[in-house]
Amino acid sequence: MAETKIREYTKEEIKEIRKSRTPIPEQEPIVRGKNFEEVALGYTEEQALREANRCMACKKRDCVAGCPVEVPIPEFIQLVREGDFTGAAKKIKEKNSLPAICGRVCPQESQCESLCTLGKKMEPVAIGRLERFVADYERAHGGGGEVAKPKPTGFKVAVVGSGPAGLTVASDLAKIGHEVTIFEALHKAGGVLVYGIPEFRLPKAIVQSEVDGIASLGVKFELDSVVGKLYTVDELLERGFDAVFIGSGAGLPMFMNIPGENLNGVYSANEFLTRTNLMKAYLFPEYDTPIKKGKHVAVVGGGNVAMDSARTALRLGADKVYLVYRRSMEELPARKEEVHHAVEEGIDFKLLTNPVEIIGEDGWVKGIKCVQMELGEPDESGRRRPVVVKGSDFVIDVDTVVMSIGTGSNPIIPESTPGLELTKRGYIVADETGATSKPGVFAGGDIVTGSATVILAAGAGRRAADTIHEYLMSKVKN
Ligand SMILES: Cc1cc2nc3c(=O)[nH]c(=O)nc-3n(C[C@H](O)[C@H](O)[C@H](O)COP(=O)(O)OP(=O)(O)OC[C@H]3O[C@@H](n4cnc5c(N)ncnc54)[C@H](O)[C@@H]3O)c2cc1C
Ligand code: SF4
Repeated sequence: MAETKIREYTKEEIKEIRKSRTPIPEQEPIVRGKNFEEVALGYTEEQALREANRCMACKKRDCVAGCPVEVPIPEFIQLVREGDFTGAAKKIKEKNSLPAICGRVCPQESQCESLCTLGKKMEPVAIGRLERFVADYERAHGGGGEVAKPKPTGFKVAVVGSGPAGLTVASDLAKIGHEVTIFEALHKAGGVLVYGIPEFRLPKAIVQSEVDGIASLGVKFELDSVVGKLYTVDELLERGFDAVFIGSGAGLPMFMNIPGENLNGVYSANEFLTRTNLMKAYLFPEYDTPIKKGKHVAVVGGGNVAMDSARTALRLGADKVYLVYRRSMEELPARKEEVHHAVEEGIDFKLLTNPVEIIGEDGWVKGIKCVQMELGEPDESGRRRPVVVKGSDFVIDVDTVVMSIGTGSNPIIPESTPGLELTKRGYIVADETGATSKPGVFAGGDIVTGSATVILAAGAGRRAADTIHEYLMSKVKN
């Protein structure tokens, strides 16, 4: 059913609009560098209709093959074209329970949009922006509808962690009548979506509305509850839970082990972003947690986390922010859009550069000593290995350093759960369905794969929910 006046495009007009994607309104770089509000403002109805009309409704559906959870992309875009925005949101939700989030943070350029047939000759359809539009429309217009209350099954499931994996598994299980409790170590639910990804990329109100939606299904949240300390996984099973899902993420910060990393003014990206996002340090003293507002900041790394840290440092008031990355622009693993935004905002990219020491004075950071790199032969990952250029050291004057070179598995659950098979790097071994080596215990998301993406974690949660349901139903039969 059309929810807006549909604009019929003529063949000529369609030929014309296919040439380039509909731009998304954004805050100007000079303005947004000084606030924490969302950078991209989202499509209007008219812009969404225009972009949807670029889609060729290909029979082969290459875009779907690029989506890790196989969202029915041409079908939802067709509904947008018909002006049925709520119907489009429902269509996406058949496969992805977090469209407002994924529409904002998925690396579409290396997934669905990279395979879009239109993209072979022109710019691909802006699938992510359309996904975001319909999800926002549904939230604003309350089109989600009441979910019918399922008959309780009598089974109880404990979910450890409230990131995208935990939220998805909890929501899917609650919808079929299982009693679900999420145990979350932090005081707010959402995982990386609340403590890592900044407000200017993913407004926290959107995450909260997902969490509220899941709570309205009857899911209980036990916040400030560290499983492995307060109760172990075995104790949860003994306390009457019939199954446990572990979605505890990969939040253990890594450092380079170079001299000076223990100086004041050196942060892990994890601490830097948590203080700012979750604890609202940028509003100190109104909020309790302070943060050092560096004037000259170096962020070490090249992923989304590094990009978020650099742009956060800028918004905290830095005059100069350097992004120190050991390979070249081509190898930057961050989302293309974030790199583009960071460049526009004036982040200074020090590429082919690697830190060797953090220099201090009176216990505080004063500079970062780096060496120049050049790209050599490809390594195991297929990317050209960076090699040090001899005698190329130089110092960048900075007062703050944020280390963003990756994270590892949090050891609390693995260490407190006997019988759980782990990889050499401390991640939980789980198969495609989410089953672990321990009966009744399932796992998914970053704690299994290592740091990955929101959609992969949500997809793992969905598959694990199916497996847990089957496991519980098999108990009835036996
Ligand atoms: C700064 C940053 C930016 C990112 N940007 C993007 C992006 O743009 N696009 C994208 O797709 N991905 C991005 N990612 C990656 C993505 O966020 C993760 O892959 C995803 O959140 C993993 O989901 P998860 O549910 O497995 O774990 P998480 O989101 O990490 O959630 C795990 C939760 O478990 C809790 N927990 C841990 N241990 C315990 C315990 N013992 N007891 C109870 N609770 C526990 C944690 O507090 C946390 O809330 C980013 C990551 C970071 C850090
Ligand atoms: S490949 Fe591109 S043009 Fe074809 S259906 Fe998918 S989004 Fe539309």
